[in-house]
Amino acid sequence: MNHFEDRPGPSGEGELWCEDVRLAEIAEQVGTPVYVYSSATLRRHYQVFRDALRQALGPDRDILIAYAVKANANLSVIKTLSDLGAGADTVSEGEIRRALAAGVPADRVIFSGVGKTDAELAFALSVGVAEINIESESELERLGQIAARLNRRPAVAIRVNPDVGAGGHAKITTGKADSKFGVSLMEAKRLYRRASTHANLNAVGLACHIGSQISDLTPLESAFVTMREMARDLRAEGFPVSRLDLGGGLGAPYADAPDPPSPADYAAMVARVFAKFDVNLAFEPGRMLVANAGVLLTRVITRHDRPEGRKFVVVDAGMNDLLRPSLYDAYHAIRPVRQGNGAPLEAFDVVGPICETGDIFAKDRSLPNLGEGDLVAMLSAGAYGASMGSEYNARPLAAEVLVQGARFAVIRRRPTYEDMLARETLADFL
Ligand SMILES: *Cc1c(COP(=O)(O)O)cnc(C)c1O
Repeated sequence: MNHFEDRPGPSGEGELWCEDVRLAEIAEQVGTPVYVYSSATLRRHYQVFRDALRQALGPDRDILIAYAVKANANLSVIKTLSDLGAGADTVSEGEIRRALAAGVPADRVIFSGVGKTDAELAFALSVGVAEINIESESELERLGQIAARLNRRPAVAIRVNPDVGAGGHAKITTGKADSKFGVSLMEAKRLYRRASTHANLNAVGLACHIGSQISDLTPLESAFVTMREMARDLRAEGFPVSRLDLGGGLGAPYADAPDPPSPADYAAMVARVFAKFDVNLAFEPGRMLVANAGVLLTRVITRHDRPEGRKFVVVDAGMNDLLRPSLYDAYHAIRPVRQGNGAPLEAFDVVGPICETGDIFAKDRSLPNLGEGDLVAMLSAGAYGASMGSEYNARPLAAEVLVQGARFAVIRRRPTYEDMLARETLADFL
């Protein structure tokens, strides 16, 4: 469910609104391309997920929902969720800084990631994050040395790679044995023992994250069973494994995909695995919280009807603004903001202005007749949209807007060309 819906506009014709704000109004005031997020949708998605887990696991279970910041790292988005109690799952110093700046308490920040530098680890220790997820032996040793130098004893979890395939696309599958993420089960036990005996490390648990846009609970359940059994084995050896971090990965409903499992079904599955196993649980949802809370609003620059038949619509958003179609062949529903009641549909290729053949949002998409200046919305763009944006082709990053009821705020302004040029210095030998 989301809060983008058709309502009559000033002329009486139906058009797309975000909560109580017309998208056309935002485009007029802020310009395009612009990402628009609905705070009611963000809140609702978090609350539904939290309530489902609470209900399934009971009031006494210690649960941390750490929003995976990489899905959408805007401060206002993070704050909307952290105000409801969300923590943050982070994969870089930059993301830790963003989470803290948005008001997430350090003791609700998890630091994950396959390549954390010494400087990043030292930073995480200095601010006192809740948990650092270790992905290799050398990282364990490096963290131990840094912690000793800084006189700290961070809580660590070992990221296990449970060797299950899951996720909507090869590029977002992370839990197979040959992926770069995490360590094997054997290795994880060894590292756990090592961390447990290290004077400057506090081994608290195990972590996993097997993929993204997962539409089937079966691989998640088998990964969670593996985690539980590993924790049981380690406890039998005398280690008090107190926390399991179950990662994110639950799919969001995209228009072309089967509906992902509901939060209630997911929570019931988690309860099936952990009802009789007393352990604190952490979750790292990203996409499912933010994907359908955002749209990318763009304007048709030009329409190009080839004599041979293909019809191209060139919009003012490009793959630098929304990379998912180029990177993952991802599908985003595209629609004109104004309904254009009953206009006949034609097949269009919707493309961006970037000098790359891959800069295509949709091929042969059935759309009502689109013309220059028309506003178009790309739906379900709240996750891995703005956060993957770049300035390729020297294009300013898209602006971002947050709507709440009848109000909206620019939560990231579009940089000016002066801003962009000011970051560079001409070499003094030129
Ligand atoms: C990306 C990531 C997530 C979030 O994944 P979603 O599919 O967006 O839920 C969670 N945990 C880790 C470690 C990640 O890398």
